[in-house]
Amino acid sequence: MAKLSSLQNHSMPTGFFTHPAFIEHNPGSMHPERPERLVAIEDAVRKISLQEKLVFRQAPKASRADLLRVHDERFIEEISSFCRNQAYLPSMEAEVNEATLEAAYLAAGAGIAATRAVMDGELNNAFCAVRPPGHHATASQSMGFCLFNNIAIAAAYLLEETKISRILIADWDLHHGNGTQDIFYNSRRVFYFSTHQWGIYPGSGAASETGTGEARGFTLNRPLMMGDGDKEIIAAFEEELLPAMEEFRPEFVLISAGFDAHEADPLGSLRVTDAGFRRLSEIVYGIADHHAGGRLVAFLEGGYNLGVLGRCVCDILDVFS
Ligand SMILES: [Zn+2]
Repeated sequence: MAKLSSLQNHSMPTGFFTHPAFIEHNPGSMHPERPERLVAIEDAVRKISLQEKLVFRQAPKASRADLLRVHDERFIEEISSFCRNQAYLPSMEAEVNEATLEAAYLAAGAGIAATRAVMDGELNNAFCAVRPPGHHATASQSMGFCLFNNIAIAAAYLLEETKISRILIADWDLHHGNGTQDIFYNSRRVFYFSTHQWGIYPGSGAASETGTGEARGFTLNRPLMMGDGDKEIIAAFEEELLPAMEEFRPEFVLISAGFDAHEADPLGSLRVTDAGFRRLSEIVYGIADHHAGGRLVAFLEGGYNLGVLGRCVCDILDVFS
């Protein structure tokens, strides 16, 4: 394999990928995964004083081939017809319609465009402000509020279409990313690390879930208890993830960046603060910088307090740039 350049050009900007269609997907009235989440993020990001270091990009649609690297053909067909019929999708716990399907293809496409731009050296790193989120979706099923698994689709693109052969996916969302774990559970090329509140949806993510066969040890779960906060989540990243990455040496780093573990989030019972999320961003940025030539792309997952979303995404962009 050709050696990857370990020197990313840090003078390149940080990408911020989004699309107006992301606010057209409406999972139903009173649903926490509401369009206003992205409005709050974009409003906040437009106001920060980093503008010269940021590049705003409109997400392109993923192709069917992009989805097929992760998802079953039958599943993609079923989802397409389901969205055309504009019904409630029980496994996804959300209403879906044509706007949902369009948004889902764009959310997957954002990740591919962002990782490609980083690989091409056009961007130093990127944040994908997308809806619907992705980390619960398995190869054959939409779950939670997730239709397609955006981060897994980006990882599969990197593995199959570029020289990248080792990827870290760090997932600090309140919920366990069961779909991402499941998709790469027998892969030694993707290291999946997750902190999440134990005992809530989707129920997976025990510390004993470590991968299968030859990939045992390539999944690392650190469930947290109700009331845990900055101290516990930062310790998991510093004391568990950092040493694991000295062994694994990722060539590209992806983040499932949910903000529902925040103390002010309405869904969870963890107590991570703005400063805590900023620290997690710094730690993962450091891993990318140290091992992966700075190659780093984050994906919005959960997070349902609008003020928190705006502030924490701005903090990530500040760390990234
Ligand atoms: Zn979540």
